[in-house]
Amino acid sequence: MSAFPADLFVGERYAVVGLGRNGFSAARALAAMGAEILGWDDDAAAREAAGRAGILLGDPVAEKFAFDALVLSPGIPHRLPTPHPAAARATTAGVPILCDAELLFRAVRRAGSRARFVGITGTNGKSTTTALLSHILAQASRPVAAGGNLGPAALALPLLGNDGVYVLEMSSYLLERIAGLRFDAAAMLNLSADHLDRHGDMAGYAAAKRAIFDRQTPEDVAIVGIDDAPSRAMAEGLAGRVVRISGVAAADVGCRDGVLCDARGAILPMRAAPALPGAHNAQNAAAAAALAGALGLSRAEIAQGIAGFAGLPHRQERVATINGIAFVNDSKATNADATARALACYDRLVWIAGGIAKSGGVESLAPLLPRVTEALLIGRDAPALARTLAAHGVPHRLAGTLEAAVPGAWDAARRHGVPVVLLSPACASFDQFSGFEARGERFCDLVRQLAAPSSAQLPPAQLPAEA
Ligand code: ADP
Repeated sequence: MSAFPADLFVGERYAVVGLGRNGFSAARALAAMGAEILGWDDDAAAREAAGRAGILLGDPVAEKFAFDALVLSPGIPHRLPTPHPAAARATTAGVPILCDAELLFRAVRRAGSRARFVGITGTNGKSTTTALLSHILAQASRPVAAGGNLGPAALALPLLGNDGVYVLEMSSYLLERIAGLRFDAAAMLNLSADHLDRHGDMAGYAAAKRAIFDRQTPEDVAIVGIDDAPSRAMAEGLAGRVVRISGVAAADVGCRDGVLCDARGAILPMRAAPALPGAHNAQNAAAAAALAGALGLSRAEIAQGIAGFAGLPHRQERVATINGIAFVNDSKATNADATARALACYDRLVWIAGGIAKSGGVESLAPLLPRVTEALLIGRDAPALARTLAAHGVPHRLAGTLEAAVPGAWDAARRHGVPVVLLSPACASFDQFSGFEARGERFCDLVRQLAAPSSAQLPPAQLPAEA
């Protein structure tokens, strides 16, 4: 592991627009490798922070637009719903629009390293699979650097030698902005409706995801989830060696009767991996096992790595068990599909949900709703969610805030003798929180307050009333 040489990008000029986590790192790293950088963010505070860090600032739109590329933050659209002015200008000027992962790939190759690149995408499970694979590799003493959408930005990662592996979580937004990046092993986990405002429709979204397999050759490995039809269809016509994976059935690597297996037999029973509950996590484990196998790890190394994985915060994280009631933080579930995975893990539960609902709300959860003994709803779209729950006969209350919902849920769990309180909102958090992490952390704080000896002793009647 070392730093990138200081002359890799000498004589090149980049506009970096969006100076948040990714853009800030990209601007600094490219400048440190000799490139001339013009940084911009529409937000004055972000510009100020970048200026303090020595990034040269200026609006690229006001310029001739003579850049080798526009490095555009993933959150900023270049096409739909409306292109950012810098992106529109780049398109007319014929300047490529790239993401930081592409520039990391260029930097690594220019530095002469043949380190391998792994890309992981899918609507849900990207972060878990990325973290799980990097844990398996690290446990097996392989040099690994993981980042992208999760963890450090791509251009904050160090230079790895020929034996190194970059594990990159690739959102559809990043995948639309790669040009030469070729993944030695790539995984596409699953596909359900999300981000359609940016991709136009499901076909556009699927096309963006499928780009993870672009430029692969028969020496590369293409791992494809087969648990939903649009993903399954992607396995056709790929240049790489296809490995099909499933969380619910036998496949090249799949989970059968709770045991993760490949063509040679059992790898490990999923009950040996307590941080990966549910069929969805079996799919993530199958993908990580297939990727690790493609990178040459032994089945024993893979099994050991999966069993020892601690899990990620905010993804079915067991926060505490109070008087036999488990509190589970699944704040990362910002859409109904992600919440479905969590609901499926419990036969009876008290559910906390709400925030800014995605299109379709929670109607798709209907088959799982009989598991919900009582729901407490928070956030902007609580009334809409309440209508769906009422239509399906699920007892529910409008709690409004997490502060009211957590004690209310504990009260309900004790009244009904239900062993699980699950926060899995099926909604974005921005009406009440800065993001899903802040929402999850608040939930953890409130649960810890319940766990404090004084409140654990209280009978239900003395708990704070629900809103
Ligand atoms: P991403 O990074 O793609 O958003 P995460 O690994 O952070 O995915 O998981 C987010 C949520 O999605 C989890 O809380 C879980 O409810 C759900 N989830 C995780 N893995 C899968 C999967 N393979 N299939 C469907 N849902 C999943």
